[in-house]
Amino acid sequence: MKILIVDDSESSRLLLERLLSNAGYADVEMADSAAAAFQKLGMDGPSTPSTEIDLILLDIVMPEMDGIEACGKIKAVDSLRDVPVIMVTAKKDDGNLQRAFDMGAIDYITKPVNKVELLARVRSVLKLKNEMDRRMEVTRHLEAANHQLQLLSALDGLTGIANRRHFDQTFDKEWRRGLRDEFPLSLILTDIDSFKAYNDNYGHQAGDVCLKRVADAISAALKRPGDLVARYGGEEFVVVLPETDKNNAAILAEDIRKKVASQKIPHGFSKAAEVVTLSLGVATAIPSRSHKPAGLIEAADTALYQAKHEGRNQVRVSH
Ligand SMILES: [Mg+2]
Repeated sequence: MKILIVDDSESSRLLLERLLSNAGYADVEMADSAAAAFQKLGMDGPSTPSTEIDLILLDIVMPEMDGIEACGKIKAVDSLRDVPVIMVTAKKDDGNLQRAFDMGAIDYITKPVNKVELLARVRSVLKLKNEMDRRMEVTRHLEAANHQLQLLSALDGLTGIANRRHFDQTFDKEWRRGLRDEFPLSLILTDIDSFKAYNDNYGHQAGDVCLKRVADAISAALKRPGDLVARYGGEEFVVVLPETDKNNAAILAEDIRKKVASQKIPHGFSKAAEVVTLSLGVATAIPSRSHKPAGLIEAADTALYQAKHEGRNQVRVSH
């Protein structure tokens, strides 16, 4: 750990350095004034001060700027605020010490320096600093992990698009927004035609690849950042379209149908075509207190059922 000694007296600096290095603290820097200390701490430069200094021993009585004022200046810098400062003072003057503590000093030692006292204070402060650094590090790791978890918990592991949970949250949020703003909200519910036959004949691994390609094609068809595609169930997908009326939702559904078919993923066992296709159901509502959001999903599901029933590979719109 690195220690900075700030003292205008050379003999004091050398004494402190010798006591510390004899005790195993080899990494010691020295400054003969507050200004020299600021320079070592990077406070003069244009960039944010950053320091590898773990502890500052700061003499109180110095010409130009005294240690108490220097302590205040160091503690006023955000990135240096947590560097512990131990005041070194010849006078055991309670008024001065109170000022030093007010400025953020953590402890003090008196001159002439007593070796046992110095090492005990330094050791305990460095231990505290170490513990604080470790906790900060753990906190940073936890925050990063939490953020990652939040992202992951919103995504479907196989296809990489939003999962059902994220859909539920988004749909709920958009419904409430629609209630407030009285904008139409549209849903497209869609599933892959004859997907069970695809899996049975090509195997589950090929089935997974197919799901991923379909998810990609649907994602590519969406144009606005507010539109969301999610994996709804096994081979079912749902698209949430805020502020979208029935006509525009139907146009987008047809666009999605074409995009997926144009992927030309061979499907020799489909009842709809020779390639992988979608059936799609569209429903639109202006959210109101007299309607339940689940009703919009049911309406899209009914339209999807009609699309299936009438031959698959088509869009049906709920009326
Ligand atoms: Mg002095």
